[in-house]
Amino acid sequence: MEYIKGKPYFCNCNKKIKQYPYLKRDIECELLIIGGGIDGAIANFYLSQKYDVVLVDKGRFGCACTACATALLEYQLDEYASDLTKYMSEQDIVLAYQSGLNAIKKIQKFISTYGNHCDFNLRPTFLFTNSNFSSKDIITEYEFRKKHGFEVELFNSNNNPFPFEIKSGIYCKNGGCEFNPYLFAKQMIENSQNQAKIFENTKIEELIKQKDGYLAITNFGEKIKCKKILIATGFNWEILNKSDLCYRFVSYSIVTEPLQDFTWYNHAMMHDATTPYHYFRILPDNRIIFGGEDTKFKQKPINEKKANKKYDKLTKDLFNLFPKLKGKTKIDYKFCGCFGTTDNNMGLIGTSNIDKDILMFISCGANGIINAITGVDVIDDILSNKPNKLIKIFSPTK
Ligand SMILES: Cc1cc2nc3c(=O)[nH]c(=O)nc-3n(C[C@H](O)[C@H](O)[C@H](O)COP(=O)(O)OP(=O)(O)OC[C@H]3O[C@@H](n4cnc5c(N)ncnc54)[C@H](O)[C@@H]3O)c2cc1C
Repeated sequence: MEYIKGKPYFCNCNKKIKQYPYLKRDIECELLIIGGGIDGAIANFYLSQKYDVVLVDKGRFGCACTACATALLEYQLDEYASDLTKYMSEQDIVLAYQSGLNAIKKIQKFISTYGNHCDFNLRPTFLFTNSNFSSKDIITEYEFRKKHGFEVELFNSNNNPFPFEIKSGIYCKNGGCEFNPYLFAKQMIENSQNQAKIFENTKIEELIKQKDGYLAITNFGEKIKCKKILIATGFNWEILNKSDLCYRFVSYSIVTEPLQDFTWYNHAMMHDATTPYHYFRILPDNRIIFGGEDTKFKQKPINEKKANKKYDKLTKDLFNLFPKLKGKTKIDYKFCGCFGTTDNNMGLIGTSNIDKDILMFISCGANGIINAITGVDVIDDILSNKPNKLIKIFSPTK
């Protein structure tokens, strides 16, 4: 089954992740991470500093949904705090927002240690609408964040610095960051401490329960004996024989050609909260990446004909927002991929309800990458039996 389609912009570069071998012998470890997208790369980097970790991917690292992520990395969640109170206490929502801000600092620390080889930038975020109906929600969300001490400004048609019309919008000066998700995964994998225990083109086909852990069997019949397993397979969890772990969607993106003399206020990363929503940002080579038009799926994610219609719709919406680009701007990249959501937007991170030795690391939502950066500490604390206030909101069994 295909979970991405088209020509993703982010891995279409000449800085490929170095090729790792496939597994040719039986091995042992404390923790086996299945899946080397950005989630597996993050887990492998941090957890291999403390545990004996093996990382495997059935294909090449970073080339599945990771390569499709727009990588708008924001502390806000997919839904408004007022909608999330059905699933989390106000206190936990504030904790989730604060964890998002801490995750941005953690990425910054990684970049200052290992260098900026992934087009990392701190960026403001702007969540806006041009509809009177959605405007009420934006104002309520602004008041929630203000009340809890987050640094936010409210823009409306009178003080709007952007080149399109809005009814209202929340601007967060220090709300986010951006990077190339493929190159970030590359840096994480290539700087991890377990270089001899990283394998590509190694598919895990079967998990066999043992007295003290698991035996994972690869497509070539090699065996990996491990105490615990971390499932980081993204939205392809066939290995678990489960279909209903979270809601799954396909999201679509287009990328323009590089633009001359084009920018907007402080390079903010944008999220249009009108339904259907759009998210967009300016890439380092001055292209716009513009995504959205999400569709829910259960079994078959991607239909080519539907995808082409979605790209046309996105192109039309982009030109409606920026009419001066219309008729003179080529679209260079079109692609789509899967993402998931859970009711509380926090993903499936923690001990699974399948077995205590199977942990899930499936970072859902439009801020999945931020959830993974925070969630790896949750996994670390679970592995070392330490309490962590976030275990409850990330839990796959919530
Ligand atoms: C269009 C789009 C835009 C997005 N925008 C954003 C955004 O702006 N910000 C954000 O934070 N998130 C965004 N996301 C979500 C983000 O892409 C995901 O959170 C993230 O990529 C998930 O990474 P992953 O490593 O879990 O999955 P993947 O990158 O899909 O990696 C899973 C890996 O597991 C491997 N695998 C699967 N089964 C097996 C097996 N049996 N054995 C071995 N290996 C296996 C696969 O080969 C694959 O490489 C977006 C997603 C899409 C589709």
